[in-house]
Amino acid sequence: MNKIALITGASRGIGKQIAITLAKEGYDIAMNCRAENEEVLLAKKEIEKNNVQCLCLPGDVSKFEECENMVKTVIEKFGKIDILINNAGITNDMLLLRMKEEDFRKVIDVNLIGTYNMTKNVSQYMMKARTGRIINLASVVGISGNAGQSNYAASKAGIIGFTKSIAKELASRNILVNAVAPGFIQTDMTNVLKDDVKENILNNIPLKRAGTPQDVANVVKFLCSEDSSYITGQIINIDGGMLM
Ligand code: NAP
Repeated sequence: MNKIALITGASRGIGKQIAITLAKEGYDIAMNCRAENEEVLLAKKEIEKNNVQCLCLPGDVSKFEECENMVKTVIEKFGKIDILINNAGITNDMLLLRMKEEDFRKVIDVNLIGTYNMTKNVSQYMMKARTGRIINLASVVGISGNAGQSNYAASKAGIIGFTKSIAKELASRNILVNAVAPGFIQTDMTNVLKDDVKENILNNIPLKRAGTPQDVANVVKFLCSEDSSYITGQIINIDGGMLM
């Protein structure tokens, strides 16, 4: 029987590339997205080309009940969840002076509470199975901070603390919990930045290029594999040397 990987926010960007990469490795995929649109159906087709099953799971990760229902749906179809990738995330950048409480809360709700909601619901099945991998998407900004991103940086710093705590809680059940911290990756999230901002970021990357979703998916693939079976509670930067 194939291993099952549940990936949140898999409609585009990094999440989609992780789903395709794990499908190539022979994992059956449960892909969460906010809505089942044309883009999602195209991604599903691409995943299924690898002779694996792909289940679309529309739902908002910031809503606990929706996460509970998504996880139940995956268990009903596949009977287990081997891998959880908490990838869904948003930004809502602005300086603190302009940031209203709702602007702050929205980012925390999706990025941090969403990670809690999915982990809480999935981990009970992994605990019974006494095996599992959880990989969270943090960010270098959660380590360094960034002007204009206090909400996002707080959510990602929260994910780092959450990752380490849950790694300690679940280690005795053979569940490994790690995070990756990407730097500047070319996706819709970063395409919205102004050209001068992008140039400034690129100038501060020793490898002198933006990362690709595949750069992130390759490390996630490693963290899902047997090759990483002695790694837990770690935050791995994928940033071309931006933060060191
Ligand atoms: P993206 O291209 O903007 O894609 C974000 C994904 O998250 C989309 O699939 C989106 O679904 C989904 N999503 C957003 N809110 C959701 C919600 N409430 N419930 C379920 N899904 C939701 O972003 P990305 O660049 O691939 O980023 C993926 C992850 O990597 C995020 O956690 C991000 O913070 C992190 N990251 C990215 C970078 C970077 O440079 N790109 C750097 C560091 C960390 P819809 O299609 O429905 O909107």
